[in-house]
Amino acid sequence: MDASDMGTDLEKVLLTEEQIQNRLNELAEQIETDYAGQDVLLVGVLKGAIMVMADLSRTLHRSYETDWMAVSSYGSGTKSSGVVRILKDLDRDISGRHVLIVEDIVDSGLTLSWLIANLSSRGPASVEVCTLLRKPDAMKVDLKVRYVGFDIPNEFVVGYGLDYAEQYRNLRVVGTLAEHVYSS
Ligand code: 5GP
Ligand code: MG
Ligand code: MG
Repeated sequence: MDASDMGTDLEKVLLTEEQIQNRLNELAEQIETDYAGQDVLLVGVLKGAIMVMADLSRTLHRSYETDWMAVSSYGSGTKSSGVVRILKDLDRDISGRHVLIVEDIVDSGLTLSWLIANLSSRGPASVEVCTLLRKPDAMKVDLKVRYVGFDIPNEFVVGYGLDYAEQYRNLRVVGTLAEHVYSS
């Protein structure tokens, strides 16, 4: 869905479809340069990273294996619980492989720190992260995020894979919701 299909639910658009696609193209170029000649496994974090993975991976000029993990940290609300559970693990062994985690957003960084530690314990050749969005709070934790699409203000955003109570993932843009959506 487009911003114009949102009625009064959208407060403002933070990133347009074009801005997102242009930035993903730049990140993909960097990734291809950095990993030239290397085998890389792209690990998408469900469900938020579905759009980033779809668009980023299709921009790449050679075949990359993709796998998915599902972890829970937020429930249906807007605050991080700090508790991470694996809902779906990787299908394959990652020992000796270069792993690139593909994320939608790094907010507190709690989920990602946990995920990096978890994957690192499996003996990969390397673990790096590509996230479309990063919020200021993420800077407070010691997190190495190699590829960042956009640094955004500390606001709850939806769209392009990001949900509020499982809604709005299919919005093409990234934006904030109007107050009445939360109070209804
Ligand atoms: P963190 O652990 O870094 O605080 O956030 C982990 C997860 O919380 C993200 O992968 C994402 O699913 C969710 N999250 C964090 N910030 C936002 C936000 O602004 N909007 C939405 N929809 N989800 C968020
Ligand atoms: Mg995520
Ligand atoms: Mg969510």
